[in-house]
Amino acid sequence: MKSFNLKGKVAIVTGGNGGIGLGMAHGLADAGADIAVAGRNEDKSKAAVADLAARGVRAISVATDVTDKEAVGRMVERVRSELGRVDILVNNAGINIRKPPHALELDEWNSVIDTNLTSAFLCSKAVHPAMKAVGGGKIINIGSMMSIFGASFAPAYAASKGGIVQFTRACACAWAADNIQVNAILPGWIDTDLTKRARIEINGLHDKVLARTPAARWGAIDDFAGIAAFLGSSASDFVTGTAIPVDGGFSVMG
Ligand code: NDP
Repeated sequence: MKSFNLKGKVAIVTGGNGGIGLGMAHGLADAGADIAVAGRNEDKSKAAVADLAARGVRAISVATDVTDKEAVGRMVERVRSELGRVDILVNNAGINIRKPPHALELDEWNSVIDTNLTSAFLCSKAVHPAMKAVGGGKIINIGSMMSIFGASFAPAYAASKGGIVQFTRACACAWAADNIQVNAILPGWIDTDLTKRARIEINGLHDKVLARTPAARWGAIDDFAGIAAFLGSSASDFVTGTAIPVDGGFSVMG
């Protein structure tokens, strides 16, 4: 069997200072990878770095706004100089602005698309030379159930998450020759800061999710540890261009 061991590998996790990003960082760190957490909130990042370092790996925080091309370039340079290389990129940073299309302003549309989709382009392009330099790499993009389904309150979010799946496929084709595998994860409904607000804003959401999810629970951040270790390791070397639901069965419920 190919190895799940990530000792000697370095991963960048955008938005890795909390929520699903931190859950994936846990999985990568437990498999042995050193981790760079890229987010804007430095207090959250400091706490995440302490949590990850306690797992016996090197962990650093790189304050980055992933919508800023120059900042993304500086982030990759800092990771290369402090941790030596880049093997894995998790494009996880994301936001939502819950409004129907007729109420959404252009700046709100742009902000969601920039954070959820354009950031993945900027970060993937920026790590490509570093991955080529070490003979290959793994890119994991975070989609959503909104990559598959629509929702009246998520026009920009659904567009960004549909786009991320197609971006994943394009990069998988473009970079296979560089031994870079590119895959997407489609989370179901997961208990994080993002959805705490959704539960307040969308009437009855909590119970609707429970009723629709065969696993009959909301997901937890550590439900993403295993898939991150799999897609980040050589165990997944022949897996590329996929979009894998991690949703307790939400997307197959009839
Ligand atoms: P959180 O709000 O907990 O995490 C979002 C992360 O993104 C934060 O750590 C935040 O860090 C970071 N972030 C946001 N904007 C930027 C930016 N401009 N630059 C750098 N970092 C940024 O939510 P989740 O963990 O739930 O979300 C993580 C991903 O999972 C998102 O892409 C989301 O769309 C997706 N997802 C979540 C689902 C859920 O049910 N929770 C379902 C489907 C998909 P900081 O505040 O420090 O900037």
